Amino acid sequence: MDYIIEAKNLSKSYGNLKAVNDISFKVKRGNLFAFLGLNGAGKSTTINILCSIIKKDLGDVFIDNLNIDSDNRLVKEKIGIVFQNSVLDEQLTVYQNLKSRASLYNLKKNEIIERINNLIKILELDDIKDRQYGNLSGGQKRKVDIARALIHNPKILFLDEPTTGLDPNTRNTVWNILHNLMDENGLTIFLTTHYMEEVLRANHVVILDGGVIAAEGSPDYLKDLYASDLLRIISKKNNEIESLLNKNKITFNFSKESYQINIKNSLEAFEIINLNPNLLSNFEVLKGNMDQVFLNVTGKKLVKTHD
Ligand code: ADP
Repeated sequence: MDYIIEAKNLSKSYGNLKAVNDISFKVKRGNLFAFLGLNGAGKSTTINILCSIIKKDLGDVFIDNLNIDSDNRLVKEKIGIVFQNSVLDEQLTVYQNLKSRASLYNLKKNEIIERINNLIKILELDDIKDRQYGNLSGGQKRKVDIARALIHNPKILFLDEPTTGLDPNTRNTVWNILHNLMDENGLTIFLTTHYMEEVLRANHVVILDGGVIAAEGSPDYLKDLYASDLLRIISKKNNEIESLLNKNKITFNFSKESYQINIKNSLEAFEIINLNPNLLSNFEVLKGNMDQVFLNVTGKKLVKTHD
């Protein structure tokens, strides 16, 4: 499989602080790659290195098989970046903003118009294309930011918390558009986010902690390793249930009127329930999730920075 990003032994220090400490990872072409970590973990430093915004101290980065040190100009053509804070002009209309951005690239006039019209279509901006950027809603602005980042047809889109502060509906709309871009154009997405439900659709997740990689893998792999499913049992015969669980050496917690048992998978729940179904008045199986993974890997909850 072809890797579009390869980072090898990256390090970056600020004085004595090792912001990024010898990390290596790869991103497959066309994948959604999620880069997670608490504030201060080193995500922005890494992204800024990959995008040649800051210089690394040590290591190598290859973007689409090009070395970012020796092929810097070509590398820049391959990447688009959506920053947390917009870089567009509040006074200009959506169309004027996109046109001014497109003029930075070596494109012919009709090519520019064609690209902008195409992005207006893909990102559903037709209704707002003549409105001032500064007057748009958060969700509308985000879509325009994405259009701006795609104007030169990059192969990789870096998205730094693209949906923070957006309502769930708008988040969905943005994600539908992004997934279409991946499916139809083979776009690779490098994502940082605080929303764990967005991570579930990632092909590969890297969790950064204190400048080093604390865990990585697919969401399913990480859930298997770091999160367990939970069986919750409600019973009217607490004494009997407890002695049954103890007899079978099953560890449990009791809180909020229910017994909670960590299980490997739903099948194990089935076995426990079958020990004596008559003792149960109700039960449910809660699947392990990425929040649990994050908590178990870093010891802390990933909280939204500004929402
Ligand atoms: P994240 O994006 O995961 O929140 P950052 O990469 O921004 O993390 O920061 C990693 C660490 O490096 C933090 O401790 C941060 O304070 C520090 N840091 C980042 N940029 C600078 C800088 N320009 N000067 C000094 N320290 C910095």
